[in-house]
Amino acid sequence: MQVISTVAEMQQVARRARQLGQTIGCVPTMGALHAGHGSLIEASAAVHAVTVTSVFVNPTQFGPSEDFDSYPRMLDADIATIERCGGTHVFAPSIAEMYPGGYTTKIRLDGVTEVLEGAHRPGHFDGVATVVCKLLMAMQPDEAFFGQKDYQQTLVVRRLVEDLLIPVTMTVAPTVREANGLAMSSRNAYLSTEERHRAAVLYRALSSAADIVTAADQDVSRHAIENAMLRELHTVEDFSVGYAVAVDADTLLPADTYHPGDRLALLIAGTLGTTRLIDNVLVTV
Ligand code: AMP
Repeated sequence: MQVISTVAEMQQVARRARQLGQTIGCVPTMGALHAGHGSLIEASAAVHAVTVTSVFVNPTQFGPSEDFDSYPRMLDADIATIERCGGTHVFAPSIAEMYPGGYTTKIRLDGVTEVLEGAHRPGHFDGVATVVCKLLMAMQPDEAFFGQKDYQQTLVVRRLVEDLLIPVTMTVAPTVREANGLAMSSRNAYLSTEERHRAAVLYRALSSAADIVTAADQDVSRHAIENAMLRELHTVEDFSVGYAVAVDADTLLPADTYHPGDRLALLIAGTLGTTRLIDNVLVTV
């Protein structure tokens, strides 16, 4: 497996693969890889001769009071994981490589970036859109793999790819969970064993709300769904709710009432102790 640290070499590898008639899949990550990332790498490796996993903790998507400095970094372990999952290349650039001195270009999307994570983390999606665009320019994949775990991010990247005419197919893979339902996340490393037990409340809340939505054979009110989530979330000590919402799965906008056939995203964000957690499920009334 090849570890690449410069954009020039990455683009050269992509060019050579293309000349050989090989297709390229890519998995953008911030490292500290777990089985969720692994599932994306395996999905790509099943289809593409070349699977590039990028490992880059992107400074521009962190707010000033967020965890950029303390974000877990473990490139050697990540390289072993990527190899085990069938990846062929690791792209691990430096910050200077991704943001050359004097850079001023940023990508900003309207609409789906303005709510939920976008409202709670100002500038976050500008950083995400900018780095995803740069990573796609560097890796030049035919197909890019993302996790439903970051559902709003998948909508942002879809919009970006469509708006900028980027020639890549986007594939979203299901959220991989611990046995107790907790969505795997690099940030779970911040949780104690006891907190990991309590953090399962997010999935319990999503599941009980999803049951209400799928059981409904007539209109269902947003309040009923959101109250079911909040009831469950409030059973756990030290969990501070950022949002717990039932919104249209495409626009992320709320309606008072949902009708049979409506496709909804149920999304929760909050802080357990000092660790911010997010999770979601998709469900049809
Ligand atoms: P991150 O390293 O957190 O930026 O995540 C890199 C990619 O892995 C993103 O597309 C995430 O949505 C995806 N991902 C993170 N956690 C999971 C999970 N538990 N299951 C599936 N995909 C995930």
